[in-house]
Amino acid sequence: MFTFKEIAQVAGGMLAQCKGEYPIQHLVTDSRKIINATASVFFAIKGEFHDGHQYLPELYQAGVRQFIVEDSEAIMDLALYPEANVLLVSNSIEAMQRIAAYHRRKFNLPVVGITGSNGKTIVKEWLAQLLSVSERVVKSPRSYNSQIGVPLSVWQINESHTVGVFEAGISKPQEMAKLEEVLQPTVGVFTNLGSAHDEGFATRNEKLQEKLKLFAHVDKLVYCADQVNVHYAVQKLGLPSFTWSKNEPSVAEVQVKVLEMRQQKTKIRFHYQGHGQDLTLPFSDEASLENALHCLATILYLGVPAEQMAGRFERLVPVAMRLERKEAINGCYIIDDTYNNDVAGLRIALDVLVHQARRGRKTLILSDLLEAGMEEEALYRQVAQEVKARGVDRVIGIGDIITRHQDLFPQGSEFYLGTDSFLGQLRPETFRQETILVKGARVFQFEKVVAALQQQVHGTLLEVNLDALVHNLNYYRGKVPAQTRIMVMVKAFAYGAGSYEIANLLQFHRVDYLAVAYADEGIALREHGITLPIMVMNPSPDSFLKMQQYALEPEIYSPDLLHRFLDYFPEKSPKTPKIHLKLDTGMHRLGFDATELDEALEVLAQMPHVQVQSVFSHLAGADEALYNDFTREQIAQFKTMSARVEQALGYPVTKHILNSAGIVRFGEEAAFDMVRLGIGLYGVESSGSDQSSLLTVGQLKTTVSQVKQINAGDTVGYSRRGVATTDKQTATIAIGYADGYDRRFGNGVGEVLINGHRAPIIGNVCMDMCMVDVTGLDVRAGDEVLVFGEGLPLTELAARIGTIPYELLTNVSTRVKRVFYNE
Ligand SMILES: *Cc1c(COP(=O)(O)O)cnc(C)c1O
Repeated sequence: MFTFKEIAQVAGGMLAQCKGEYPIQHLVTDSRKIINATASVFFAIKGEFHDGHQYLPELYQAGVRQFIVEDSEAIMDLALYPEANVLLVSNSIEAMQRIAAYHRRKFNLPVVGITGSNGKTIVKEWLAQLLSVSERVVKSPRSYNSQIGVPLSVWQINESHTVGVFEAGISKPQEMAKLEEVLQPTVGVFTNLGSAHDEGFATRNEKLQEKLKLFAHVDKLVYCADQVNVHYAVQKLGLPSFTWSKNEPSVAEVQVKVLEMRQQKTKIRFHYQGHGQDLTLPFSDEASLENALHCLATILYLGVPAEQMAGRFERLVPVAMRLERKEAINGCYIIDDTYNNDVAGLRIALDVLVHQARRGRKTLILSDLLEAGMEEEALYRQVAQEVKARGVDRVIGIGDIITRHQDLFPQGSEFYLGTDSFLGQLRPETFRQETILVKGARVFQFEKVVAALQQQVHGTLLEVNLDALVHNLNYYRGKVPAQTRIMVMVKAFAYGAGSYEIANLLQFHRVDYLAVAYADEGIALREHGITLPIMVMNPSPDSFLKMQQYALEPEIYSPDLLHRFLDYFPEKSPKTPKIHLKLDTGMHRLGFDATELDEALEVLAQMPHVQVQSVFSHLAGADEALYNDFTREQIAQFKTMSARVEQALGYPVTKHILNSAGIVRFGEEAAFDMVRLGIGLYGVESSGSDQSSLLTVGQLKTTVSQVKQINAGDTVGYSRRGVATTDKQTATIAIGYADGYDRRFGNGVGEVLINGHRAPIIGNVCMDMCMVDVTGLDVRAGDEVLVFGEGLPLTELAARIGTIPYELLTNVSTRVKRVFYNE
């Protein structure tokens, strides 16, 4: 086991203080993810948006005693941490990498290192599945492939493992050499070269060269020899290769021929060392085939006998990459994670559970674990500890193995031998206002459990990608000076995305403020445990008291409203009432104009017991260069007016004027103290100049209810507006104007995407349905239909009906179920 002194030696740097010996089990970089404080080493990282050093006192309070820091200022006063061990290094991430590399060197096992543009995580998961039949596999949890993720993955290796499978990803030059030192792979897999992260590199070839650095010391590199540019680069570098190919003839070690590909099955024949063999793979798409062939070649190289392939591949299961959150019965929330059920995956899912369920009970429905390399009793003891450490209130264990170890789990837990026996005895009323993590190995078919607990609604969904949302948040953070605070607009159900979920995520990512339109929206957030300051933009006087009770801060925009506020809070109250002053600098919507400002300041002078939290204004044309002069005038006027306010009040007040488009176009000159991020967070760059930097957050999806063949001359839908000029095939899809699908999309104006093909709307849009033209396409009832999202951008659709993306987003009706997920 490591000691802190040993860590200091390995990591380099200066041992600022060493006050004790504590166990070293967990390396942690996120202060919110401390589970076992005394056994954790916290690495304080100064990031672009966060500074881990800020949390040192808080972590010390929570019992953390081992710190690796990179900012000497942060530890000026070591007396604050009397019992701590503190190591000062020049770079905390590099220190962690050195520690992991040192740990890695202690083990002499084959380690497969995987990189490439696409498919890394799937190849990693599949290799682990295929190898676990005969090996004890350690692998990266989910897609832990970054400068931090790789050391954390390697840190898991222990004596019991016989093979390691890890992925490595990079976004910038110089990163891969570091990952190579940490991982020290003995076998390489290069999946493919695509466009991901092109922006970080001068040329595609530079990216390829950088990626290949992972394989500097491998015994063999596995890849597809048909990728000409990759093959050429590998040969030129003289790396030892082990390749597969679909071309004939070829020099590849493994020769593959696709015999048949249809209906979720692909039949192939492969030749290796002079023997041919048939193999059936359980899917029928090109991407999966490529991933599977990388796996086939790798395990052939690792010595798995060719005749075992059929048995191993037939059990290959798809990798569920997503962790979804769904609304469930009786006010519950489900976190649905059917990703591989091993301890590392469980740990990540439990962290999500903890952050999701700030209030209310936490329930875990867990199947037997599929964990290679651990003795059963020890495994469930560890699981029970992880569960307990996170304050899970009850466990529902399903499977005969977990049931055997039920004594290890908290009182009140329930156990069932199988999924069906659980469902047979399910009493829905025993689930109430709680967050339920459903985590089961695939054989347990926990999708049935999710279906039983989920709120039943029709098949139209708004899928919200939370990772994309965080990406967008960080994009906007990068556009303003570092100290600028961020207020996020979560009005109108967070632009349709679902207010509580989004607010919770924003709170986790430490934005500074939220804003809603009405008091009710703010109260709902408070009732879901949101503690961030919240501004209410359209408060009615009769909600002032309620707002005070819920610590909501009204925007005051007129002399009249200010007088009314004074009526409600005439004198000092135990909780200082807080307000935000809105100035009208040209939008002419709400706000004090220059002529009303004197009166406002007079009234404010009578209310020193009220705190003005901020003063702000709103730009009318921030998104268009045409209005630049006007925008600059607004900014200048805001400067003058807000200075008057500050002077009259006699204390500094937070100032803000920029919305999303303003941040992109004026972020450097007019960020003031805070900015107000709206639509950009949800993936629309409304100035249109930098859309490609944002990721799509919301995708509206529905399903095909029925497919029909109609004849020339037939009509479709109400008022017989859809006229078939030729014989046609139509599909009826389960979305209509009551779901928020605009009627103006009718009669060919709108299009949807079915199986990757665009299909125009035919006839009028109905209340709950509409019809699309799918002539010549292979479409069946039950197929998924994309209404907007990847490949069908909101900006394009909005333009077709003469509106803006804001309207399409906020129109998605509340009856459409929101599903939130992380990649
Ligand atoms: C909605 C709103 C914003 C955000 O605008 P976006 O264009 O969505 O960024 C900012 N400020 C005020 C006052 C708003 O009402």
